[in-house]
Amino acid sequence: MIDIAQLKQGNRRALAKAITLVESKLDSHRLEAQALLEAVLPDTGNSIRIGISGIPGVGKSTFIEAFGKHLISLGKKVAVLAVDPSSPVRGGSILGDKTRMEELSREANAFIRPSPSEGALGGVAQKTRETMLLCEAAGYDVILVETVGVGQSEYEVAAMVDFFLVLMIPNAGDELQGIKRGIMELADALVINKADGESINLATRTQQHYQNAFHLIRHGTFWTPRVETCSALNKQGIESVWQMIVEFQDLAIEHQAFAAKRAKQNADWMKKLIHQMLEQRLVDNPAIKQMMTELRADVIDNRVTPYSAAKTILDLL
Ligand code: GDP
Repeated sequence: MIDIAQLKQGNRRALAKAITLVESKLDSHRLEAQALLEAVLPDTGNSIRIGISGIPGVGKSTFIEAFGKHLISLGKKVAVLAVDPSSPVRGGSILGDKTRMEELSREANAFIRPSPSEGALGGVAQKTRETMLLCEAAGYDVILVETVGVGQSEYEVAAMVDFFLVLMIPNAGDELQGIKRGIMELADALVINKADGESINLATRTQQHYQNAFHLIRHGTFWTPRVETCSALNKQGIESVWQMIVEFQDLAIEHQAFAAKRAKQNADWMKKLIHQMLEQRLVDNPAIKQMMTELRADVIDNRVTPYSAAKTILDLL
C-alpha cells in the first residue's frame, strides 16, 4: 500500500513506490494506481510543466543540471522525468539517468526519474503523465520532461507540458538538427546552447535566423516563440531562460490560455486512450480475433466491403 499522507508530505520513498506502482503492467496494480491517482488529483496541477527536447549531444543533461540547480536556488522543488523513444528497443533508458546529472541528483529538492524502460511510446507517455501528477502531489513545483529530438516523442511530450523548449547548437543547418517546420510549430522557445568561446557569434546569428522564422510562421497569439542563447557548461543565460518561462506563464494566465491548454490536453488524451483501449480489447478477444481473420480474407477476395467488415467486428464488442 502507498502511504498517501507520506506522499503528499514529499516523502521520496513514498513517491518512488507510487511511481513504481504506476509503472507496473499488472492489471491489479493498474486499478490500484488509478485509485491512488484519483485520491491525489486535488493536490496536482500546482507546477509548471516544461518539456525539453534536442538531438543527442546538444547538451540536454548539462542544461537540465544547470537549470535545475538554478531553480533550486530560487527555492523550487524540481522533478526531472524522461520520455525516451529508444528505450523499448534498447531495453534501457538513456534519458533522465542519474549518472548524467550527478550534481542535481544530490540535491534534496531534486527528484530524477529515468524513463520507464518498457512499453510502446504511448505507454511510456501515459506513465510519464501519471508520474508527473504524483510529483505534483509530492510538492514538486517545476516538472522537467526530457526527450530526444526524434520523431513522435516530441509530439508526445509537447502534448503533456505547459511550455515546450527545444535546445539547439549554433549554426548547424536546419537539416542537420532535424529542425522541421513541425518542431517550429511545437516549440514555445528555442534555446541555442553552447553559445560560448568561438561559437558566440554563430549563436547570435542562429538566434536571429530562428527568431525571424518564428515571426513569419508563429504570430497572432499571445506568445511568439522566443529564441534565446545560453551556455549550459558555463551556466550563462540560464536565468533568462527561466525568466522567459515565468513571463510566458504570466501571459498565458492573463489570456486564460494556461488552464485551457491543460484542459484540452486532458480531453485529447482521454480520446487517445479510448482509441488505444478499444484496439486492445479487439486484440484481446479471441472470438473477435478469429472473426477478423475470416473477414480479412473476405475483404481481400472482394466478398465483403471493408466498411461492413469493420462494422460486423465492432458490433461484436
Ligand atoms: P545530451 O546528450 O543532449 O544530454 O548532451 P550532454 O549534456 O551530455 O552534452 C554533450 C556534450 O556537450 C558534453 O561533452 C558537454 O560537456 C558538452 N556541452 C554541454 N553544454 C555545453 C555548453 O554550453 N558549451 C559547450 N562548449 N559544451 C557543452
